[in-house]
Amino acid sequence: MKICFATNNDHKIKEVQALLGSTFQIVSLIDIGCNEELAEDQDTLEGNSLQKARYVYDHYRVPCFADDTGLEVQALNGAPGVYSARYAGHQRSAEDNMNLLLANLAAKENRKAQFRTVVTLITGAGVNQFEGVLKGEILKEKRGTEGFGYDPLFLPDGHTKTLAEMSLAEKNTLSHRARAVHALTLFLKQKNLATRV
Ligand code: IMP
Repeated sequence: MKICFATNNDHKIKEVQALLGSTFQIVSLIDIGCNEELAEDQDTLEGNSLQKARYVYDHYRVPCFADDTGLEVQALNGAPGVYSARYAGHQRSAEDNMNLLLANLAAKENRKAQFRTVVTLITGAGVNQFEGVLKGEILKEKRGTEGFGYDPLFLPDGHTKTLAEMSLAEKNTLSHRARAVHALTLFLKQKNLATRV
């Protein structure tokens, strides 16, 4: 079954294809002829994820899913949250975002944080949402070169490596997105949607 993942982020496509396995073949936005940057101007992860999936389903009529992820930092009352991508501005620079986060946490003792992903699936059978959470802490210095976004600063609970020091395979055993996609995969298999959409 082909299913569109409403993103053109190669890192994410690789991560999620590895999780879904061979039953589902992910196609990207470019693969379905969508060259636009999808709007995500809602104020919740749930809203943004639904907005992106809804746009693709309504315009291209293909089974699809979209994700939205936020880094929720306790001492910052859940910020940057839904604004994680553009925390330091519209240039969406991971380096700028991490530097701003370090500056905003400089005087804080509590470094606890979580990544939260919401995946929205839309098929002929309707709309479903799935959540994945990864708890950890924000380090004072960046470590590692793998992954993307805030990975070099995020140390998952019970681990000694940051997400950016882990291989893709290791990150996929525990990540927020992996957990949400795992729930999505179980749902697709249980509902046998592969034969219905
Ligand atoms: P998006 O909703 O997946 O586009 O994520 C919003 C922002 O959260 C991204 O631009 C990244 O800064 C950050 N982010 C999302 N997923 C991850 C991840 O797996 N590791 C680190 N940062 C992430």
